[in-house]
Amino acid sequence: MTCQEAERLVTPYIRDELSGDELEAFLTHLERCRSCQEELEIYFMVDVGLKQLDSGAGTFDIMGALQHRIAESYARVRRMWAVRRLLYAVNTLGIMAVAVTVLLQVRIWFF
Ligand SMILES: [Zn+2]
Repeated sequence: MTCQEAERLVTPYIRDELSGDELEAFLTHLERCRSCQEELEIYFMVDVGLKQLDSGAGTFDIMGALQHRIAESYARVRRMWAVRRLLYAVNTLGIMAVAVTVLLQVRIWFF
């Protein structure tokens, strides 16, 4: 993912609108790109700051909230892969079960 692509995902990320795959690519880019991290921090601060003005809440740990948000995003990506591995395993077992059934049937017919 290029910086340009990552920058386009900043706002959808803050609004929690990214798909699992987009989220993973976005996080991977952020890990090694300081300038996109800063971009996200600025947008996040503005977004959260504006909401706070609306709600009139007191001081709030914006950077802490962002770190919490990113940690949640990693958890979401991990869950996505856990589900995919599970589906893959179920699928593989299903195919094996069919193969075994066919083999047994063939044995009955020919041996
Ligand atoms: Zn970047």
